[in-house]
Amino acid sequence: MNSLKSVAVNISIPFFIFFIFVFIALYESKIPEFIFTLVPYLFYAISVLILWVSWHFNRNRFIFIIIPLLLISIGFEYLSANKKTDLFFYASVLYPLHLLLFLSLRERGLFSIWGILKISLFLFEIASVAYLVAYPQSDLIALLKIKLFALSFYPLQDISVAVGIFVLFIISALLIFNRYLLYNGSFLVIVIAFYAGFYFIKTPHALELSMLAIGVIIFILLIRESYRLAFYDELTSLPGRRALVEDMAKLGMKYSLAMIDIDHFKKFNDTYGHDTGDEVLKMVASRLANVGGGGKAYRYGGEEFVLLFPSKDSDESYTHTDILRDAIAKSPFSVRNKKSSKRIFINISAGVVQKSSKDRDPFAVMKRADNALYKAKKAGRNLVVKA
Ligand code: GH3
Ligand code: MG
Ligand code: MG
Repeated sequence: MNSLKSVAVNISIPFFIFFIFVFIALYESKIPEFIFTLVPYLFYAISVLILWVSWHFNRNRFIFIIIPLLLISIGFEYLSANKKTDLFFYASVLYPLHLLLFLSLRERGLFSIWGILKISLFLFEIASVAYLVAYPQSDLIALLKIKLFALSFYPLQDISVAVGIFVLFIISALLIFNRYLLYNGSFLVIVIAFYAGFYFIKTPHALELSMLAIGVIIFILLIRESYRLAFYDELTSLPGRRALVEDMAKLGMKYSLAMIDIDHFKKFNDTYGHDTGDEVLKMVASRLANVGGGGKAYRYGGEEFVLLFPSKDSDESYTHTDILRDAIAKSPFSVRNKKSSKRIFINISAGVVQKSSKDRDPFAVMKRADNALYKAKKAGRNLVVKA
């Protein structure tokens, strides 16, 4: 389960973007009209950018998400009034489902078997909607326009509202339980922005603004993801060594840190296998991530971690590190294999230092922490040593 704080951090950015666009829509009469003539072109421009970046960095998901929006906005631009109404109806029912589907499908190369299946599914969806719009199906539409709610959400049909509630419910659950917070947070807001644009379709520029908002949310998501890839460790979701060096350079004169290493981890890997070793790393990382005293955890590399304590002395960081050492030593880790399940215990050792005026750079501080860690290992492990 994700912490409330990380959920809030991840949804605040897309919501912020969304509200900027809501604000623009509310004050549209005060904004010069020519600005709004640019909105569709801005959407096309950002879509091309998203397509290019997604293609280049193998983030194909976004290709499948942005192309339908492009087709929808081109459709609204050029179709006749009747066909527009049909397109509005099908898009409002299917697009949220489409989003959910492509959010959950794993990212694979476009020309792998999976990629080709995905492309086929996508083309099938597009072709079906194109067919339904080109050859009006009044029976089907009448069937789908069933009344489900006492309230009316006109111009949205009840079925589209029901789909929206379902999709929002699933994405909210993913937001709480699934670790891809960055994606789920943005997708939640994308669904909301999509419905806002469709519901207020009669309001001047609302739909164009909602499309542009979605484009901006996706673009920012791509930027944030590349930042995350550069600075965060994939396995443990902790920030990595690069983030540590940057953060240390930003800190003032007073800080302390703990260099942590899992005890006898090689033996553990050899006995239980590398995958179980990875599980242990995740478990230790999630413990360390909740360090007290304003500390922050990093994966330094392999089975080594660093806790950084801004403006804390070594006594305080010793205390917080030792609490974690003790908690980890006391938590059983269950190893399951085909035949049995076994509870084992993991220990960590740590070396704690405080920055001194003699340390010329962050690496000097880490070197001293490493020496203290070495002493902890020599003294028998499952120990924190203060330099
Ligand atoms: P010590 O108590 O002295 O630290 O002994 P150790 O066995 O933990 O020390 P050593 O540095 O020799 O072994 C570290 C091991 O960590 C070696 C490597 O197989 C394992 N390791 C490093 N990175 C990963 C990883 O990402 N996943 C897994 N499963 N193992 C890793
Ligand atoms: Mg090591
Ligand atoms: Mg070790």
